[in-house]
Amino acid sequence: MKLVICEKNISAKRIAYILSDGKSKSTRIGKTPVYEFSKDNELWKIIGLRGHIINLDFPSGFNRWNKIPPADLIDIEPVKKVSEKSIAASLKTLVDKNPYLIVATDYDREGELIGVEIVNLIKEYNKDINNIKRAKFSAITGYEIKNAFDKLSEVDYNLSSAGETRQVIDLIWGAVLTRFISLTSNRLGRDFLSIGRVQSPTLALLVEREKNIKNFVPKPFWKIIATLKKDESFTATHVDGQIWEKEKAEKIFNKVESTKKANVESVDKKVMQELPPSPFSTTTFLEACSYLGISASRAMSIAEELYMNGLISYPRTDNTVYPKSLNIKGILNKLAESKFSNEAKEVINNGRKVPTRGKKFTTDHPPIHPVGVPTSRKLTSEQEKVYDLICRRFLSTLAKDAVSESVSAIFDINSEKFKSEGYRLIEPNWRNIYTYYREKRKPLPEIIKGEEINIQNIKLKEDETKPPARYTQGSLIAKMEQLSLGTKSTRHEIINKLYSRSYITLSPLAPTPTAFAVVEAMAECDVVKPKMTAKLEKDMDQISEGKKTLDDAVTESREMLKTVMLELEKNKDTIKESIRKAEKKENTVGKCPKCGKPMMIRKSRKGKRFVGCTGYPDCKNTYSLPQNGGIFSNDKACSECGAPVVRVKAKGKRAWELCLNSECSAKKPSRKKN
Ligand SMILES: [Zn+2]
Ligand SMILES: [Zn+2]
Repeated sequence: MKLVICEKNISAKRIAYILSDGKSKSTRIGKTPVYEFSKDNELWKIIGLRGHIINLDFPSGFNRWNKIPPADLIDIEPVKKVSEKSIAASLKTLVDKNPYLIVATDYDREGELIGVEIVNLIKEYNKDINNIKRAKFSAITGYEIKNAFDKLSEVDYNLSSAGETRQVIDLIWGAVLTRFISLTSNRLGRDFLSIGRVQSPTLALLVEREKNIKNFVPKPFWKIIATLKKDESFTATHVDGQIWEKEKAEKIFNKVESTKKANVESVDKKVMQELPPSPFSTTTFLEACSYLGISASRAMSIAEELYMNGLISYPRTDNTVYPKSLNIKGILNKLAESKFSNEAKEVINNGRKVPTRGKKFTTDHPPIHPVGVPTSRKLTSEQEKVYDLICRRFLSTLAKDAVSESVSAIFDINSEKFKSEGYRLIEPNWRNIYTYYREKRKPLPEIIKGEEINIQNIKLKEDETKPPARYTQGSLIAKMEQLSLGTKSTRHEIINKLYSRSYITLSPLAPTPTAFAVVEAMAECDVVKPKMTAKLEKDMDQISEGKKTLDDAVTESREMLKTVMLELEKNKDTIKESIRKAEKKENTVGKCPKCGKPMMIRKSRKGKRFVGCTGYPDCKNTYSLPQNGGIFSNDKACSECGAPVVRVKAKGKRAWELCLNSECSAKKPSRKKN
């Protein structure tokens, strides 16, 4: 018998369908679906996992946060615990017959680790199993799967060891520091504060950006803008651009203000070739989704669904170069029979000779690309949006350069120089396929050197410099990749974790006062710096190449953590105080309309939260609060009744604004898009 282990049930189902040419039967062992078929007189059984079915944790005696000083955890050996008991039980019955085992989990570090976890578990159930092979594929399509099962390879224990190293180090650092900060700040139970190797440096990035925004001092400047007209109106700006002295700007303005004609001094035309974008890696894919308003974690789970259904290639990849083996023609022929027929035919008949390529070239998986066309099964509108994006991106990387013309014209207005810039698309090519870029530049009317153009008006405009923008999910993920924080598979989960621990509020991503306090408390400690992650990445690469062992890397990491803990213990009181202050600030939701004192979120004896006046017992004003979701202060008062207005964000729902006064005439919460 051949037993195939897949990462998820849905991939098991599809792989069984492909290998059996559609003849597989679905059965169950206990609660677990198993797909069966016979081929060349051999029985095949295919089972899907739920990702990791084994969890790494401290032995049960060490789970009581109050009893064990955090630093004592550093040298404790974590243990493996089966987290999906019913799947494990099904595997136990399946290995009785001593099958030929094929690991067909996702082909990357995490997938290899999942596979090895199962191999080790199965060997506990049946010592005699020694036929173990690995099937490696990048897309769940007939061609890829059959090819992978024809050319089985060996399980890569070095690769899984690298994955396990990360797991062990993240567990130890995360548990020790999370317990330290939660105990120090007395935040236990549901509201604990977490610290992690990837989440804390990510949070530090957000805190730093927020500080830059808060400390930003806008600087005023002036611009002189002329509106000219030839056929249509267009604008020209004084060549000094931002003028920092008001007097200087006024002087120029007075000089040109009543001039009626602009003389064209020069016209510079440039024809440009615009290269299409490079193939999608996970990061650039998530950035594009974020631009379309799909959050990173949502985009990742949709991509996963499309992959499992054989529509796109494996969505976790750093690669931005199509491998030579990729059958681009075959994919184009498929797309020519889809709704992208016109675009595909355009590329087939008139495409570029060599596809575009990005900077990163890896060999594990190709860049994200379509592998199939949806048939009978309809896609949800979100799935369709993401699938279309991937198809259009793929097609555009094979399309010809766009050709455009940029024009730069200089005008003389009473001896002052003004400049106007125009842009015109001559041959759209890929821009007709990848339609997501919005071009802000406009064409200029046809103008000739020496010509006189009518001036409609000239204005002196005051403006000021703007603070840097907050991160979006997309730009944060790109920054994380640049700093090697997290992996293509975990970055979006890290952002989710920061939300769920209330370190950040809503979008755009803004850190809470507690986030500031925690990041500051950890400032001197390597855990908020990307340096530690860089070392771990290097260690993992060496482990997967067989040049270092898990034990060496973990021992070194433990020593680092011990130094960190000595430092933190010394500063315990300061940390405690600064988190307490931050909490106070965070829990203040506005001013009491009855007495003017600040109002704060408090907990009743039964653990229910409410808002009470700090003027208590003189003022007994209170408001009830929704018990679920995050409550964020707005510094806003209700325009109807003067009570504080807060923003409420429940999981999976849009944030909305709520006047705390339940008797307020504006009682219906005004739902506001975040
Ligand atoms: Zn009051
Ligand atoms: Zn109100």
